Amino acid sequence: MMKKGLLILLLIAVGICYLLYDSEKYVFEKIADNVYVIHGPLDEPNAKNRGFMNNPGLIVGKNGAIIIDPGSAYGVGKNVMIAAEKITNKPIVAVFNTHVHGDHWLGNQAIVERYPAVKIYAHPNMIEQAKSSEGERWIALMSKLTEGASDGTIASYPTDTTTHLQIIKAGGEAFRMHHDITGVAHTNTDLMIEHIKTKTLFMGDNGLVHRHGRFDETSDMHGNIAVLQYATDLNLTYYVPGHGPTGNATTTVKPFLHYLQIVQDEVKKGYEQDLTDYEIKPIADKKLTAYHDWHGYESNMGKHIGKMFGEIESLDE
Ligand SMILES: [Zn+2]
Repeated sequence: MMKKGLLILLLIAVGICYLLYDSEKYVFEKIADNVYVIHGPLDEPNAKNRGFMNNPGLIVGKNGAIIIDPGSAYGVGKNVMIAAEKITNKPIVAVFNTHVHGDHWLGNQAIVERYPAVKIYAHPNMIEQAKSSEGERWIALMSKLTEGASDGTIASYPTDTTTHLQIIKAGGEAFRMHHDITGVAHTNTDLMIEHIKTKTLFMGDNGLVHRHGRFDETSDMHGNIAVLQYATDLNLTYYVPGHGPTGNATTTVKPFLHYLQIVQDEVKKGYEQDLTDYEIKPIADKKLTAYHDWHGYESNMGKHIGKMFGEIESLDE
């Protein structure tokens, strides 16, 4: 009996150490006055990171705190909240979700559990798609990729829809909504959030740095190019990408914009010379050497060429 008791105690101790170790990796870095970002891992979701891979944001207002994209799972959202409590003891009064991909919003659950009256804002398409099937699909996908480490996550949907250029006030802070700029970009559910006072733009996955992602069937690469040009023209001070380091327009918006423009130029040239996407790939690869060290380049670049080829082909019809 004694031995069994000791074993249980040991297991509990190991469990606590694991949780503490895990939450220590969640650190909000100050990027502007009262604005903080946790720059999440660039890896794909796996058992070790428990699905955590995005850049949650925190804004501390006079009357409350605001979270942007609280992560990919219940446990991740909890760790984001623990990290926020190290910065402020103000209640979380609002959350913004940038798009329907589950790595950005499934962490809502932890916030809602603690603050049931919290307002969660998103693009109307995001709420519709999350409720119809994307929420369940992402929960299953996260569970598979993390080998069950994200289990216990349920979909906590946004409560309030946004419109383009709407000003939303929360916690004494003002935010301007940017969406439907081209209709479709990273997805057809994208919302970019501007914190007006500090001139900070949370771009969601329209902005990526040092990491490539998928352009799925609901995306539009031409639209993503237009959105990044739009973001640059807003002439703001700080840009927070969905994945990768925060910076200014030159360091954080332009690299991915240039990548997409090179892909567009090379595919267009190849298409006009009757090359196949397969033949264009090695030519484009040589022009994209600056991006070879971005996470996911190998697995995504060929698919990006194929997607751009399809878009250029359909524009030509
Ligand atoms: Zn995404």
